[in-house]
Formats: sequence, structure tokens, C-alpha cells
Amino acid sequence: MQIQDQKVVQIHYTLTNDDGETLDSSRGKEPLTYIQGKGNIIPGLERALAGRQTGETLTAVVEPEDGYGVKNKDLIQSIPLTSFQDPTAVEVGARFQVQTSNGTHVATVTEIAEKTATLDLNHPLADERLHFAVEIMDIRTATADELAHGHAHGEGGHHH
Ligand code: ZN
Repeated sequence: MQIQDQKVVQIHYTLTNDDGETLDSSRGKEPLTYIQGKGNIIPGLERALAGRQTGETLTAVVEPEDGYGVKNKDLIQSIPLTSFQDPTAVEVGARFQVQTSNGTHVATVTEIAEKTATLDLNHPLADERLHFAVEIMDIRTATADELAHGHAHGEGGHHH
């Protein structure tokens, strides 16, 4: 079967950055299961997978614009250390979830001054060129339920 819109696809992938460092991998875990054409995965990877067959392996290089985006300066903010529950636990590189009017973001502490911390609310992989090594494990037609929900059910998908 071929990957087309409305197919449920299972892939194993390893994601590395420009320096060859592994950022994420499904190896040793369940494969990633998604519906092609539903925006479940980043656009650049979805495009690279279109038309591929079960059992194929491929590599795809995805630019930030087609991946997790380009860093937005407005999402880098300085906030008082006193606004943290435990200011002594705040350190550069620490990540935590914050709620904003746009939903949940992962914030990364990028700088600490005497009284403030700089938080970067951009996606941790913003500005990164992404290198994917992918193996296509399975392709099947999505059910009506899955298409209505916009995500895969069953093995490797949501359970409800
Ligand atoms: Zn569902």
C-alpha cells in the first residue's frame, strides 16, 4: 500500500540535528502512528512520506519553516525570579510547561540575572534543521471514526 491522505501510517524514525546528535527516536518504543494529511506530524515530514510504500526506508531533511518553526522574538521574555515557586531551582537549560493565552508551551530558561530569568517559549526544536531517518512499518486505510477524530486509534494510536 502507498502513503496517501487518509491512510494510517506507522513509522519508526530517528531524528538528528545538523551536528548529527540524536534528538528523538521511536526505536525501542512503539512506532509513531499518524494519519497522513491531518497535520498530525510536521509538514516537511508528511510531504516526504507521501507516495512511499510499506517497508521503504528514507531520509528527509526538513527546514525549520516546515518543521517546528523559526524562533519568534516575542516568545522570549524576562520575568522576575520571585514569580517562580522555588527560585533557587531555576537554572539555565531547565524546561517546564507554562500556560499562555495560546495554550500550553514548553518554556526553556536561557539566561539568569540577579533578579530575572529569561524564558524562551519557542518550541525547543525551533530554528533546527531536522534530519529524519524513517522506516515505514505499516500503512492501512483510516476508519470513519479515526477520520472524524483526526487521529489514529488502536495499536500505536489513541485508545478510546
Ligand atoms: Zn479518537
